[in-house]
Amino acid sequence: MEPNAEAHEARIPDAEAAVPMASGGVASTPELQWSTPTQPVERIERLHAAAQSRPSGGDGRQFAADHRSAPVKSAAHDSAQRPSARTGLDQDASGERARRIATLAWDDLEADIRECRACVLCERRSQPVPGVGDRRARWMLVGEGPGAEEDLRGEPFVGQAGRLLDNMLGSIGLKRGDDVYIANAVKCRPPHNRTPEAGEVAACLPYLERQIDLVQPRLLVALGRPAAQALLGSEVRIGAARGKLFAHRGIPVVVTYHPAYLLRNPQDKGKAWEDLCFARHCMQASPSA
Ligand code: SF4
Repeated sequence: MEPNAEAHEARIPDAEAAVPMASGGVASTPELQWSTPTQPVERIERLHAAAQSRPSGGDGRQFAADHRSAPVKSAAHDSAQRPSARTGLDQDASGERARRIATLAWDDLEADIRECRACVLCERRSQPVPGVGDRRARWMLVGEGPGAEEDLRGEPFVGQAGRLLDNMLGSIGLKRGDDVYIANAVKCRPPHNRTPEAGEVAACLPYLERQIDLVQPRLLVALGRPAAQALLGSEVRIGAARGKLFAHRGIPVVVTYHPAYLLRNPQDKGKAWEDLCFARHCMQASPSA
């Protein structure tokens, strides 16, 4: 989708100067070009070292060294307790629904999503967009919500933002559908591509949680602020969260910009590339990678 500017962190600290991008010609238009700078390896190493030396306290969600044995409180856990005023479900019904969704296998999960009317986003969708990719992937990318083209085609990240995402993945040796699963925080298109509201994200969170449970990724990459907030269960500023390792129920989470934001702000592609390199480094450093 094309999230509005408020949904993403546009105020980047000057100290986080972008790495200049070389022209690689990997895409047909300048907006979609995504090529590989050569120099930020030291910076990636430094970011990773900083993340590892950072205490796991603070907001309680940054990655602990022994993350499998010390899972942090999850957004899913929070979701059963969040206000559900905008979902049309009372607290008990929301909890019961979340527990039911948490038992669904893939086919039943996708069927449930297609029938879902748990929030107002059902009213103007063409179709829900559950997710796409390798169901046993080590990498799971989470975006914001379907845009117009996704709404019509039923697949996340198609159109220009999707092609840029594919180029971003390619720059670190990944390919859509091959060890990569892609989903959104909300499965139905918000009208006029507005940012999904907190209640809508909360209503849809059981689906994302179940997708994460089924995929069991080694690493989650949050694309943009709504996705990061859904996974981390707290306010997130992308500019402040980049280069840090968080956790969602024990799974490491890296935060970066949404491709639609990068289409509007190509000067930040270098930062996103750094974030992906950081993610790749974290994956490689994972004891279970
Ligand atoms: S956005 Fe999610 S919770 Fe809302 S109607 Fe669509 S599938 Fe259901």
